[in-house]
Amino acid sequence: MAKFEYTYQRTYRGPLKAVILDWAGTTMDYGCYAPAVVFVEVYRRKGVPISIEEARGPMGAHKKVHIRKISQIESVAQRWQDIHARQPNEDDVEAMFQDFVPLQLDCLADYADLIPGTLEAVGEFHRRGLKIGSTTGYLREMMGILVGEASRRGYRPDATVCASDVPAGRPEPWMCLQNAMELGVYPMEAIVKVGDTLPDIEEGLNADMWTIGLAKTGNEIGLNAQEIEALPPDVMEAKLAQAYGRMYQTGAHYVVDGIWDVPPILDEINERLKAGERP
Ligand SMILES: [Mg+2]
Repeated sequence: MAKFEYTYQRTYRGPLKAVILDWAGTTMDYGCYAPAVVFVEVYRRKGVPISIEEARGPMGAHKKVHIRKISQIESVAQRWQDIHARQPNEDDVEAMFQDFVPLQLDCLADYADLIPGTLEAVGEFHRRGLKIGSTTGYLREMMGILVGEASRRGYRPDATVCASDVPAGRPEPWMCLQNAMELGVYPMEAIVKVGDTLPDIEEGLNADMWTIGLAKTGNEIGLNAQEIEALPPDVMEAKLAQAYGRMYQTGAHYVVDGIWDVPPILDEINERLKAGERP
């Protein structure tokens, strides 16, 4: 058998083909409030008060995983122990998830306004010939509501994959791969993931995609546009710097304030692809 002295590496140098957008905190629900308030409520119903910060910690995950992760936060587990004289277990997680689903369905539409700049950014993505996919920690039933609300407001992605559609949600890459399949797009380095949480970024990286973190409009700051407006500028600056740091430390290729900042980044990524760079 011939012995080869050289091997060759194939490099994709074409342009981006698609962008995969998260939902809450990325395209709608500025501050990512809808799930946060419901997590607080399901714990309240178990007699265990949790703060909105504790509720927000695991954001981006499948909602049942999220409830479990809250129960594992040391301060929450201790409070649970004080109140119930035992640690929270999987039955508690299941019971809270059963409470969670109808409560979330009830209030989703109240938080369905698009984040300012979303329609313009989506228009820019289309102008660049990109397909638009989406992933979310919400379940299919919930997305039934949100897809309708978004559509009435003029936002209609080409594909939507939910945490409940795949074997596991974020940070695993399956929702992104399912999007690629439904959009008919490859290779994965021709796709960009955009989202507002650290699991969003990990999901994109695990799928070998470019990732862009949104620091201002989602769970990292956890405030809506009016609340941000009311903050002293130096406080906001400090919060934003922290969010940028956390997202870059998770491995995001880029971090920007909101979806309105994404289009010029895509041109930059196209230049990097042309030069033979991979995510
Ligand atoms: Mg989100």
